[in-house]
Amino acid sequence: MKYCKKCVQPDTRPGIKFGEDGVCPACTHIVTIGTIDYDARRGELFELLEDYKKHNKLRQYDCIIGVSGGKDSTRQAMYVKEVLGLKPLLVCCSYPPEQLTETGADNMSNLIKLGFDAISVGPSPKTWKRLMRNGFFRFGNYAKSTEMALFASVPKLAIAYHIPLILWGENPATQFGNLAVGSLNWNGNGMRNSNTIRSGPDPLLDPDMKENEINWFRYPKPEEMDKANLQIVYLGYFWNDWNKITNGSFSVANGLEIRDGVSAHEGSLYPFDALDDDFSVLNQMIKHVKFGFGRLTEEASELIRAGKISREEGIELVKKYDGKCAQKYIDRFCEYLEISLDQFWEVVESYRDLKIWSKDENGKWGLEYNFD
Ligand SMILES: [Zn+2]
Repeated sequence: MKYCKKCVQPDTRPGIKFGEDGVCPACTHIVTIGTIDYDARRGELFELLEDYKKHNKLRQYDCIIGVSGGKDSTRQAMYVKEVLGLKPLLVCCSYPPEQLTETGADNMSNLIKLGFDAISVGPSPKTWKRLMRNGFFRFGNYAKSTEMALFASVPKLAIAYHIPLILWGENPATQFGNLAVGSLNWNGNGMRNSNTIRSGPDPLLDPDMKENEINWFRYPKPEEMDKANLQIVYLGYFWNDWNKITNGSFSVANGLEIRDGVSAHEGSLYPFDALDDDFSVLNQMIKHVKFGFGRLTEEASELIRAGKISREEGIELVKKYDGKCAQKYIDRFCEYLEISLDQFWEVVESYRDLKIWSKDENGKWGLEYNFD
């Protein structure tokens, strides 16, 4: 496992490719940010949107935004309404009751109260659970299907409502350096090639499942998107301060509810991540077992790039807290999927990458860190 020479991102992230200088794409990109003319980019954005405004006199909404009610979606929705002057339709793909947190439900209500029309898509909890279970047992990743539904429900509704413009926040290529999704600019039409969406739900299905049961998990075909003239735009490209801290403080000031207490013991530096879903803490822990990094590695890397902490401080935080997950989340997850703790750990351990993990003399697993 090699680490980026500038931040703490490892080369085990699927889809990542470091430069010859040993630097990750996100760090290479950040250097260019200081030289970017954001005024010119904003001009480019208004020009792009003008085209959509001009042609939509008959439509009720200018664009569609996928939201969870969390910090990013709150900031994004407000920006689109107040700064860009558009009327968005918000689409929320909601978790089943056993997965959705109280805070998540409150935050979605808060967002609607800020003055938006919203549609909530709720795939059948039975199918939801079966696909999650299959994802966990077959790929060690329960979230494969849930992420598919979160991403697919937005273009599906855009097509159904004849709204040709979808606005997302950050481009994963610039945020994490995942180049599989395509370009580093604003064009998000390559989103279908991301790790999550590419395979579609087929590898998660059981033989008795019918196509009409998994409708919400299937991303629209390219020809359907072309026919609807769908354009996906990453707003992050036009924005010089799209990041966790700014989005978090903006959204808290606008009524966002956050977690109590310190979260570094749960593998995150912030109390405002994935507020609607506690299982995600566990998913980050599994990612850590599989690839040697979790959410905190991403957060620390962002802070290093922003000049808020040194790389040494980042390394300390990663070693101490990355991949941590409280037992209560594991218990709740097992109860939801109706599996035993032994079954849970058997699956998780089968994905442990032995090239990067080894046991110490006390039988405790440790990562072989080689930051240089
Ligand atoms: Zn880096």
